[in-house]
Amino acid sequence: MTHQVYIGLGSNLQNPQQQLQHAIDRIREIPATSVILVSPFYGSTAVGPGQQPDYVNAAALLATQLQAHPLLDQLQAIEQQQGRKRGPQQWVPRTLDLDILLFNNEQITSERLQIPHPHMTERNFVLQPLHDLNPDLALPDGRSVQDLLSKLDRQGLWAL
Ligand code: AMP
Repeated sequence: MTHQVYIGLGSNLQNPQQQLQHAIDRIREIPATSVILVSPFYGSTAVGPGQQPDYVNAAALLATQLQAHPLLDQLQAIEQQQGRKRGPQQWVPRTLDLDILLFNNEQITSERLQIPHPHMTERNFVLQPLHDLNPDLALPDGRSVQDLLSKLDRQGLWAL
């Protein structure tokens, strides 16, 4: 069975645009997986406490035969290969962050995965590229990406 998966990509270190482009090339090499669409790239101001460089964010639509956990393994391997330091702190700069935002229309909760991604509904840098990929997209609970996006202000987000 082919699964339709939306992922979010982010980077704010070591040439973020190149990090994202490289990650997309690597994602194309994941077994039984195709990259169907890639959104435009956006710049965004870092959220959370403390000073951090601006981010580059994008989203992509994948078609994959993999289940969510094996797909997460593949994405985390790409994060690791691109020099991601995974530490105890949450709000730190990163060379590459890959998140599974939506997996078909499923809600998945496990120790390693929460889908839909828990913070996606509050983040314009996630919702805007998702909306670019599919303006009719909705979450499993029925909320539309377009509606959620219209409630957020566009501050701190710019097209690249
Ligand atoms: P972060 O440091 O923000 O990349 O968070 C990474 C952690 O989030 C990993 O340990 C994942 O197991 C967990 N996680 C939970 N839900 C998701 C998701 N939907 N996509 C990616 N990682 C997730």
